[in-house]
Amino acid sequence: MVKEFGIFIDGKWNDASGKEFFETVNPATGEVLARFARGNAADVDRAVASAVRGYRVWKEMPAPMRGEVLLRAALALERGKEELASLVTREMGKILSEGRGEVQEAIDFFKYMAGEGRRMFGETTPSELPDKFNLTVRLPKGPVGMITPWNFPVSIPSWKMGAALISGCSVVLKPATDTPYCAARFVEMISEAGFPPGVINLVPGTGAEVGSPLINHPSIRAISFTGGVATGREVYTAGARRLIQVHLELGGKNPVIVMDDANLDLAVEGVLFGAFGTSGQRCTATSRLIVHESVFGKITEMLAARVEKLRVGNPSDESVDMGPVINRKAKESIMGYIDIGRKEDGHVIAGGGSLEDGEYARGNYIQPTMIETRHGSRISTEEIFGPVLSVIKVKDYAEAVSVANGVQYGLSSAIYTMDVNRAFQAIRQLESGITYINAPTIGAEIHLPFGGVKNTGTGGREAGSSAIEEFTELKSVFIDYSDRLQKAQIDTESRLKETMSESGGA
Ligand code: NAD
Repeated sequence: MVKEFGIFIDGKWNDASGKEFFETVNPATGEVLARFARGNAADVDRAVASAVRGYRVWKEMPAPMRGEVLLRAALALERGKEELASLVTREMGKILSEGRGEVQEAIDFFKYMAGEGRRMFGETTPSELPDKFNLTVRLPKGPVGMITPWNFPVSIPSWKMGAALISGCSVVLKPATDTPYCAARFVEMISEAGFPPGVINLVPGTGAEVGSPLINHPSIRAISFTGGVATGREVYTAGARRLIQVHLELGGKNPVIVMDDANLDLAVEGVLFGAFGTSGQRCTATSRLIVHESVFGKITEMLAARVEKLRVGNPSDESVDMGPVINRKAKESIMGYIDIGRKEDGHVIAGGGSLEDGEYARGNYIQPTMIETRHGSRISTEEIFGPVLSVIKVKDYAEAVSVANGVQYGLSSAIYTMDVNRAFQAIRQLESGITYINAPTIGAEIHLPFGGVKNTGTGGREAGSSAIEEFTELKSVFIDYSDRLQKAQIDTESRLKETMSESGGA
């Protein structure tokens, strides 16, 4: 018998309102891992009611004290790290070292946010009037909703929750249907820290049946969403109708530029990791390799030799380099793109096939693939979200930047060059929220802002201290200790005249 989960409200698991369940499976083996209630609008109502109760208590707790609870949550995750990492690997399919890295990111972020409880800075500024004092304070937005994808089933909920919780918000999480088990264990582990009941809530289920009612619930004050552009558009539109803040983190088509003066060995290592780590299913995955024509032949040959040697298999086996993709539908879509690449006159440099036999029979495996293509083809501009690297030849730096910027997305970018002037120009000219110099497009650190430009998002940032801005409102405070009515603008003008005539000024 596999474990069954309902909805997490009021600090514990409860039965869901309906009787329907869905299964979560290991994409490497097809093994059923757990069964989850298929939540509905009634469950969302119950979870939000719980979040409203939790919010009343949590927002009154001083932020440094909330930080203390977050620190305990980080320590609980540290104790459970190996278990959670192994679950990430079994449910999502990334290799174990990446699963550990993902849980470490959640631990680090909760620790970092615990410290933010003692910072939560506002501003103090002079008043235009005497005996008056002005400042700003940050206050929580209220109960907030979070809708997350399957590719980082622990760290994305942790980024959103860490920032929301330290800000004093309560949360209702709707995890992706492919990875609810990771989210459930994450919530159980951090709950060991002793959050007041109702501060953290989780409702599993589909976007239409849980996500949509969550966005439309009148007590939800903000939505933080990570996922694809098409879904993001729907979420944004629904949020706009309610005039609530919607933070969107969407897709990418991240380029690595390799210039003629690059350290090619380093670039090969970086591209290999960036393109095929997590089977290319990272929002920051390297999906385009843009190469200066004078090193094109050399680097494609070096890279193809390494790609062919990548060991694909069950990600729980520590000798494996690349696991499966998330599900059958994703596999079909990725294989479809490889076909499109071929039909667009793309030249398959490495891989290109589906892995079906023997150890691969029950999982969703694809060969790591490199396809030479031209800028403007579908495989060079659309997000494939799998282990497929489009390789594009360019004649110089200007063309490289123009190709890099010639897509709707702008999440991460990278350039390999030894020319410091070029590197600094690229920082300014590449249209992306993140740029790496001589490093791959993946590997963000939690204390820096994370997010993209153009269709990758709405401009807000996760991670770093700026994440708090997504979950707080600024309040301006005016304290008048003059004991008389002072009128801004009106009294300022008369005082100015008085002062100038006293000092004999014109
Ligand atoms: P998705 O858009 O299909 O789903 C994301 C979440 O939205 C899921 O929980 C899903 O159930 C929910 N959802 C679906 N329809 C909805 C609706 N109408 N209303 C409310 N919620 C709805 O994305 P996915 O396949 O889970 O994730 C892959 C995508 O996420 C890729 O495009 C990837 O680039 C992107 N991503 C972006 C970042 C980033 O930080 N920019 C990080 C990770 C993943």
